[in-house]
Amino acid sequence: MVFQLRVWRFFVLSVVVVLIVLSPVVARAIAPFRAVQATSVENRVENRVAALPLKQQNTPARLPMPMNFPQTINSPGFMPRQEVVSVHSSNYDYRMSTDIAGNPIHNDMIVVLHETVGSAGSAINTFQRENRHDNDQVSYHTLIRQDGTVVYLVPPEMRAFGAGNSVFNGPHGAETVRLDPVLPPSVNNFAYHAALESPADGRGNGSNHSGYTDAQYASLAWLIAQTNIPESRITTHRAVDRSGSRRDPRSFDTQKFFKLLSDFRLALQNQEA
Ligand SMILES: [Zn+2]
Repeated sequence: MVFQLRVWRFFVLSVVVVLIVLSPVVARAIAPFRAVQATSVENRVENRVAALPLKQQNTPARLPMPMNFPQTINSPGFMPRQEVVSVHSSNYDYRMSTDIAGNPIHNDMIVVLHETVGSAGSAINTFQRENRHDNDQVSYHTLIRQDGTVVYLVPPEMRAFGAGNSVFNGPHGAETVRLDPVLPPSVNNFAYHAALESPADGRGNGSNHSGYTDAQYASLAWLIAQTNIPESRITTHRAVDRSGSRRDPRSFDTQKFFKLLSDFRLALQNQEA
C-alpha cells in the first residue's frame, strides 16, 4: 500500500513537471488560433504590414527608406469592405534611400492609378506566384474590386512593381529613379500603386470600355483621402509609362474621382477640426 502510494505520488509529480515544461510550447502552438479569434477584420487591416512576409535581405547595399505613409483607415460616414491578401515576396521589395549611383533619393510620394484589364482574381493569382524573372515581377499596393472592396496587397512602405519603365512629369520636372543596372529607371520607388478591376467588357485590348462602378470611385477616393499626397502628384500608368505599351486606366472619369477625393478630404478635415 505504501509502495503504491509512492508510485502514485511519483506519477502525479511527473505529470505536473511535464505540464510545466511543455506550457510555453503549448501556448505557442495555440497562439495563432487565439490571435485569429481575438482579432477583428479591422485590426487585421491595421496589422496588414505585420501579416505579410518580409523579404529576406542579404547585407543590403542600400538601406530601406523610412516611409511616413498614413495607415489610418477612418473616414466619417463611409467605410468600404476591406480585405488583406498576401502576395509573393518576389513581386515587391524595399523602397530605397539611394539610387544606383549612391545619390540620396528625396522624391515625395505619387499615386499611380491602374486598371487590372483581367479580373481581380486573376491579377491576385499573378501576384501570389513566385516570379523569378525581373520582367515578370509585378504588383500593386491596392486593388479595388467592382463591388468597391479594397484589397490590400503590398504594404505601403514597400516598393510595389507597378510601372517598370516610367517617369513622372510633375510640377518640379521629370522624376524617376534608377536602382538596377539592367532595368530602366522607374517611379516605383516613390509610387503608391492603386488599381481598379476592369469591367467584363474591358478584358480585351480595346481603347475604352463601359468604365468603373460608383462603388469603385467612392472606395478609391476614400483610400487616397487617407494620404497627404496632393492632387498634383496623382497620376496614371498611361501618363508615367515610357514603354509605349500602357494605356491604363482606360475610360477613367478623372473629374468624378477628384470631386469625390476633395469631398472625402474635406470631411476628414472637419472631423479632425
Ligand atoms: Zn498599369
